[in-house]
Amino acid sequence: MNDLVMRNLSYGLFVCTARDGEKDNGCIINTVTQVASTPNRISIAVNKANYTHDMILKTRKFNVSILSEAAQFSTFQHFGFQSGRDVDKMAGIEFSRSENGIVYITNGCNGFISGDVYDAIDVGSHTLFLADVADGDVFDKTASATYAYYFANIKPKPQPAPEKKKGWVCTICGYIYEGEELPADFICPLCKHPASDFKPL
Ligand code: FE
Repeated sequence: MNDLVMRNLSYGLFVCTARDGEKDNGCIINTVTQVASTPNRISIAVNKANYTHDMILKTRKFNVSILSEAAQFSTFQHFGFQSGRDVDKMAGIEFSRSENGIVYITNGCNGFISGDVYDAIDVGSHTLFLADVADGDVFDKTASATYAYYFANIKPKPQPAPEKKKGWVCTICGYIYEGEELPADFICPLCKHPASDFKPL
């Protein structure tokens, strides 16, 4: 099995948001797919380590804001590389609310979709949420950002290290693990990706 083939799949990028009581939160996901047109339904897969995951499981509602090629790396850092358990991710962020009361992001996004969850399937590291499309809008005509576009144009290129250190770097977010051996079950503390997404420094 050549695990690299998984990277040849193409994905979009999205800010997935939820609201539980007065608490707003969001995370970055790359797994939003329309799965039926009649009725209009989408699926999203959300990593169980994300606080947003628990909020959707509880409230059965979410929004996805579709990141465009105008998105800044800071948006990925803000929603992807810190946890809503520790910070208020909406502080200092421009946002609007849809009819379901949940935040959506306009800055660097070209539209949003609201989902009402009708089934949640435990698929391992992630939960697959199946949802009816309840609402949505288009903000502008900027092309949607693909995962490949993010790596080629949005994520800053790694700076050459001044001194050679022993360790592993997360190819998704740039987190550095120092040490000879990366534990096989290691999970990136920033972006929650597994050890297979790390490469030696
Ligand atoms: Fe990472």
